Amino acid sequence: MTVILKLRIDGEQVATLHADQLPCEIVPQVRVDGPVTVEFEDAAGRVHAHSLPAATGWLHLSVRVHAGFGCQADAVIVHTETHAAGAPLGEGEVGVRFQPFFLAGAANVPDLAGHGLFARGLHFRGIVTPGTVLLSCACDACHRTFLVRSIHAGFAEQAYFYSASGTYTLLVDGRVAGAPVPLAPPDPVLLATLETALPPAPDGTRFAYLNPFRCPHCRASYLDFAANPGEREGEYYALHFPDTPPMHMPDAPLADRRDTGGSLLNRIGRLFN
Ligand SMILES: [Zn+2]
Repeated sequence: MTVILKLRIDGEQVATLHADQLPCEIVPQVRVDGPVTVEFEDAAGRVHAHSLPAATGWLHLSVRVHAGFGCQADAVIVHTETHAAGAPLGEGEVGVRFQPFFLAGAANVPDLAGHGLFARGLHFRGIVTPGTVLLSCACDACHRTFLVRSIHAGFAEQAYFYSASGTYTLLVDGRVAGAPVPLAPPDPVLLATLETALPPAPDGTRFAYLNPFRCPHCRASYLDFAANPGEREGEYYALHFPDTPPMHMPDAPLADRRDTGGSLLNRIGRLFN
């Protein structure tokens, strides 16, 4: 029986799967101290490698492989040797959701290149992804992975814009004229006026509503809104890289508003500084 999946943590094989075991979930756990890489290798030798942020504790992996050879996996690094699925994460604990993928031999693999986070299985409508959870995305072009944080822009009625360089994220208060808040189609005239008034990114590139979110390794479009008309307004999570907190417009949060971006920033500071 052919091995359809080999799972490695820092080069050490921790599990293998055969086709007659599907569907199944495997839940290896190892003690970690520092950054580790989780690798999934399928029967064709294709390797999906995801790097986890540096942390000390117990790494608990959950790898679900479905009958159709789809693979969904996530990980937490927590202080305890046991961890109940879905339990909230505490101070200094880390959660990572890996971009789902299909193993060699799968039929009907959808072409999701350039599509949004919901289509890719990184967020789920009706289920809020906690701000403590990092996403490990896989570039459609270079196939390398990268970690991002997401902000539920709908909660705070914020609009968001990515810089043309793909490095920066700008959050705009939803009460600013022309700010396209999630799930509402933008007014094209007001949006164009707002875009000309947005500050430049620190690298000099411009923010624009239809700018893609880009792979940080090769700069290919990852969320390609221009190529997928109609997807942008439904993508209500704004992404940013863990070491590049979002910018805000106006600079200081307006009074009497919840500011989920601010609380995320505090969390990023604790985890990554
Ligand atoms: Zn890339």
